[in-house]
Amino acid sequence: MLFNPINAYAKDMKIFVADTAVFINRYRRDATFVTVPSVIEELKSRESSIEGLLAIESGAKVEQPNPEAIAEIHRMARNTRDIEELSKTDIEILAKAFEYKDNAILLTDDYAMQNVALLLGIEVKPVTQKKIKDRIIWEKRCTGCRRKFDSGDECPVCGSPLKKTRKRKV
Ligand SMILES: [Zn+2]
Repeated sequence: MLFNPINAYAKDMKIFVADTAVFINRYRRDATFVTVPSVIEELKSRESSIEGLLAIESGAKVEQPNPEAIAEIHRMARNTRDIEELSKTDIEILAKAFEYKDNAILLTDDYAMQNVALLLGIEVKPVTQKKIKDRIIWEKRCTGCRRKFDSGDECPVCGSPLKKTRKRKV
């Protein structure tokens, strides 16, 4: 299902793209919320999901993300090395925020999601925690031979575990 944001929402309207924490924490209800089907699945699997389901019934829109937007999120998250921290749901939420980039405010406390969103020019607001200040590019460094890699958990040269380190700030 492809979505045309111009047809769906007025241009000057702010849309809050919400992750699971938004519904659990009963974030403000006087706004237009958009989320993705996997968030609803996560809420349904929780015992305390009634609040979340009520929030959705009170007007949050559930939309499947556009495959092209998902591909763009994968591309950026691989660049920043955030990809390993992101769940399928995280990526879908990011993709939905990217589709509505001009209107959207992404609501999330997840640092990897915030990092990718900020680099894509998506406005971000935290739900319960502080927003990150710096945008970070990560890399993996071997704890044995200190060689640097883009990804992976084990050093292909010496077999030691790789550790995530900051490559640079953007
Ligand atoms: Zn090594």
